[in-house]
Amino acid sequence: MKVKKCPVCKSKNITTYMGAQFGKYLCKKCGYVGALILEEDDKRNKKRKQEVLSM
Ligand SMILES: [Zn+2]
Repeated sequence: MKVKKCPVCKSKNITTYMGAQFGKYLCKKCGYVGALILEEDDKRNKKRKQEVLSM
């Protein structure tokens, strides 16, 4: 599962803008609207945390 993040404020509070019919996203935190969005793999983040804990 991928997590969408705002490229401006790195918030995960992202929603589709106008029902995604324009292919844009809206950040509820800073008000950013645009097609550019950061996507991070949620699984990779969890794995990285586990590796840190095991050390
Ligand atoms: Zn934002």
